[in-house]
Amino acid sequence: MAHINDNFLKLKAGYLFPEIGRRVKAYAAANPQAKVIRLGIGDVTEPLAPAVIAAMHKAVDEMARRETFHGYCDEQGYEFLRQAIAKHDYQARGCDITADEIFVSDGSKCDTGNFLEILGHDNVIAVTDPVYPVYVDTNVMAGNTGSAKASGEFEGLIYLPMTAENGFVPPQPAPGSKVDVIYLCSPNNPTGAVLSKTELTRWVQYAKQNDALILFDAAYHAFITDPSIPHSIYEIPGAREVAVEFRSFSKTAGFTGTRCAFTVVPKTVAGKAKDGSRVELHRLWMRRQTTKFNGVAYIVHRAAEAVYSPEGQKQVRATIDFYMENAAIIRRTLTELGIAAYGGTNAPYIWLKTPKGMKSWDFFDHLLTQCQVVGTPGSGFGAAGEGYFRISAFNSRANVEEAMQRLRAKLQA
Ligand SMILES: *Cc1c(COP(=O)(O)O)cnc(C)c1O
Repeated sequence: MAHINDNFLKLKAGYLFPEIGRRVKAYAAANPQAKVIRLGIGDVTEPLAPAVIAAMHKAVDEMARRETFHGYCDEQGYEFLRQAIAKHDYQARGCDITADEIFVSDGSKCDTGNFLEILGHDNVIAVTDPVYPVYVDTNVMAGNTGSAKASGEFEGLIYLPMTAENGFVPPQPAPGSKVDVIYLCSPNNPTGAVLSKTELTRWVQYAKQNDALILFDAAYHAFITDPSIPHSIYEIPGAREVAVEFRSFSKTAGFTGTRCAFTVVPKTVAGKAKDGSRVELHRLWMRRQTTKFNGVAYIVHRAAEAVYSPEGQKQVRATIDFYMENAAIIRRTLTELGIAAYGGTNAPYIWLKTPKGMKSWDFFDHLLTQCQVVGTPGSGFGAAGEGYFRISAFNSRANVEEAMQRLRAKLQA
């Protein structure tokens, strides 16, 4: 019989979203007349921008003719898209990133997970708590952790708590505990908090002083409204030596079902081989991708390129503004109800402190049965998320307004 990867058995069976689904289904079955509004999942709702659709139609027609047909693309992604990314997302913001440091992919979720393949298994790894569960689970699968403790935390990982008390800014590891790899996500899923230039600079300095690698997830950079907040870690001097950045068109341009993302691996970021020599991560990631990945569809490349056209930029901006107005409505309502609400100004997520010290799952049930509104229990993102709750701004205006009306009617203190 084939042996399995026993590390999978350490995972707590993907409990968060299936459990939400189970509870909603049971409620809907018992209350068939109820109109449940889902503000739980982190998926977009608005259609693709017209400029993106037009580019895709054109690319489909190209694929229909021998003269303009495209087969395999180069594994790093077509140059035209990598150039557009380098110019608009990096050089325009003063970041020294070139097209050959960009790797186009079909998702940041897979990139963050796959990236572990080029790292060794002896690294001390730090994640925030709460955290985007993918960072933790992929480390478990890779065998980089011990077992799960009763708290849900895994042995061997360092958890950096983010709470209202520290402004949801992850504290640096204690001086004695040297960390090799740190995951940072700003704007943050789930808290909606952002790292300021000062805070991000402190992390880059930490990484330089400790020879650590920062895996920076900027999936929500387009939702930043405060001009002082960095969109990229490469806006911080020295980051080119210590950071890899993950970006995605999923939330920024509604590509969750279209699939396009990219990872920036500057040629100046290195890791250490067993013999102590420095090895460029760029070289290893290139080798990994050319062996295990065969690129993103030409049609999708053209769709992503259109995001950077003047019309594309305007249209994508309008959709983000629309979601951010939803976020403002949600945050305003919660605040007026006397519920402490965070995030929602530079991110499409509102992170609230549950009223009367309720447990996250109790508040979930309360909101579902009283208001027929679904959110995400904070405890599902980590032990420090207990007593918090995430509400997503991804929905229609009508649904958000109705959900908030129900909250006003039922949650009034
Ligand atoms: C949605 C999301 C992503 C994007 O994932 P894709 O695979 O590109 O769709 C990345 N990181 C975080 C934290 C996210 O919430």
